[in-house]
Amino acid sequence: MDESLYNDGNVVVGCGISGAVVANLLAAKFNEKVIIIEKKNHIAGSCFDYRDSNGICIHKYGSHIFHTNNDIVWNYLLQFSEFNDYKHKVIALIDGVETNIPFNFNSLYQVFPENLAFKLKNKLIEYYGKNSKVPILELKKVKDNDLNFLADFIYKKVFLEYTKKQWGIPPEKIDSSVTARVPIYIGEDNRYFHDKYQGIPIYGYTELIKKMITHPNITVMLNTDYKNIKLKYKRLFYTGSIDEFFDYKYGKLPYRSLRFELEEYNKEYYQKSAVVNYTTSEDYTRIHEYKHYLNDKSQRTVIVKEYSEAYEEGKNERYYPIVNEKNILLYNKYLEDAQNIRNLWFLGRLGDYKYYDIDKAIIRAIELIDSIQK
Ligand code: UDP
Repeated sequence: MDESLYNDGNVVVGCGISGAVVANLLAAKFNEKVIIIEKKNHIAGSCFDYRDSNGICIHKYGSHIFHTNNDIVWNYLLQFSEFNDYKHKVIALIDGVETNIPFNFNSLYQVFPENLAFKLKNKLIEYYGKNSKVPILELKKVKDNDLNFLADFIYKKVFLEYTKKQWGIPPEKIDSSVTARVPIYIGEDNRYFHDKYQGIPIYGYTELIKKMITHPNITVMLNTDYKNIKLKYKRLFYTGSIDEFFDYKYGKLPYRSLRFELEEYNKEYYQKSAVVNYTTSEDYTRIHEYKHYLNDKSQRTVIVKEYSEAYEEGKNERYYPIVNEKNILLYNKYLEDAQNIRNLWFLGRLGDYKYYDIDKAIIRAIELIDSIQK
């Protein structure tokens, strides 16, 4: 008798958003059995949130704000939760001055005298057109003295120190797509995201994901390391890190990790917005005040200071893949091995080694299952 845990269905490793979508689709849409194996003692991966003793919904692994332009993703999620109409707005403290981020026309007037702000605003419109978005590394290339001065200011006061804290290296040394996530906005809109759909699930992400995986065809095993159990499967969907799966045989894929320091205050609010970025001072990158997301009512508040650090196995967790040519080459070596194993797929931020937002992780999972079930 084989001692392996027998399972003729699908195994999903990791119960974050990617694993939950895969499990949900296989179980609910295709009526297949799924076992989800999760190392942690909770579901929802990095989206995990919980209510603390003050009734405040805490995002354990940092702020998660849902936004998408994709109708399929939005309609899919509405099956599991309603969303509020929260629109994310971020303030950066630039030498102590509260400034809207993404840097936009309002930011110009916050940091410069009115006549200079007016002149720069018109130059930006002339060069790029109203409502366009310009990544900082593009703006830096502009051949105009005034805009060059502005680019230099934004680079130094918004991106340089923050990026050094976040990635350990300056903006030019990371993939240009990373700073392009927060482009300069040629307009007055203060929202961090301009997507058609945005909001926070009204009972939190953990509840949303719980609904996704609550199905007679799905079994969830928490506190279980995939490596420690023998399991037969029809298909394996692995959302953990691909290098670890292959015992690091080609070397380790680098990641950035985060550390969160939580503080509680006996006052209603600590700051005006859910996130304040510290772009010119402090060792932490930003402060989150979670009660803003669901408008939680409490006389107390909880804030979290976010520090970035290198990922080290056994010490902390993987949060961000460090996407560059060298690391993609290494990833591709592992991927080639993976593609030679039948019925095995990698996905998610760690499995694909991609800096996915929540909606992109969902699209990836939906498309993967669609391609397999065709
Ligand atoms: N960034 C920055 N200053 C800011 C905001 C963002 O330098 O005030 C850069 C930084 O390199 C960061 C990247 O832009 O890693 C992407 O920012 P985003 O807010 O999308 O990061 P996330 O919320 O995913 O950590």
